[in-house]
Amino acid sequence: MGRDLRSAQYLEALGLESWVLRRPAASIAIAAPPRESPPPAPAHVPAPAPAPAPALARPPAPGRATDWRALAEEVAACVRCRLHERRTQTVFGVGDPAAELLVIGEAPGADEDRQGEPFVGRSGQLLNSMLFAAGLPRATVYIANIIKCRPPDNRDPLPEEVRCCMPYLHRQIDLLGPRLMLAVGRVAAQTLLDTDTPIGKLRGAVHRFGARNTPLIVTYHPAYLLRSPREKRRAWDDLRFVRGELARQRASTSGASA
Ligand code: URA
Repeated sequence: MGRDLRSAQYLEALGLESWVLRRPAASIAIAAPPRESPPPAPAHVPAPAPAPAPALARPPAPGRATDWRALAEEVAACVRCRLHERRTQTVFGVGDPAAELLVIGEAPGADEDRQGEPFVGRSGQLLNSMLFAAGLPRATVYIANIIKCRPPDNRDPLPEEVRCCMPYLHRQIDLLGPRLMLAVGRVAAQTLLDTDTPIGKLRGAVHRFGARNTPLIVTYHPAYLLRSPREKRRAWDDLRFVRGELARQRASTSGASA
């Protein structure tokens, strides 16, 4: 099946067809070919199998594997805040250690706490589907959260919990060196950008993060999209923006090295 058709079917399953399928297939062509076969239709996506942390789609660059492993072990043993008392396990992160795109959510929920992997519940299935439709299958990106342990009753992370946990994310970012970061949801966006500006105002721009000035784009959290499906269109705009920005970055890097 053609990639465009598969993508279109995906978007239809996501409830985005009325906006996208009006256009000719060429206008929804995917920039980069998916490096994995598509996940099943969103409503039927089974939860991924449990993965040991850190679950890596590809082995890290030589010399980096030890750093990743050491960091994952440190996180697994962390008792810096009280969230360790109730966790089943830490949720370190998952994906390709050479990924260009780092997706950052808020915190593990019940499914993630059980399986030890970020975004494996219903919102994870939606995130996977949207990434796939944008030509960025889950296995080709890296996914992590602001905090590594589940807050009770799915409450927002407390400032103290974020303060304790952020150094781990900073080290993941250093190891990964992503071309682009995507903050999903208010908590991730406001924490990474150190602002209380509403998420609606943070979308649609390329922000910068950290000492390396890594470009950062903001979108809605998939849990919010499940509650407010009309906003999926805007989230789809954001993912197309991510795709375009990645292409732009690649072009400017290859131009610089030519
Ligand atoms: N929500 C998040 O922000 N992160 C997860 O890993 C799961 C749900």
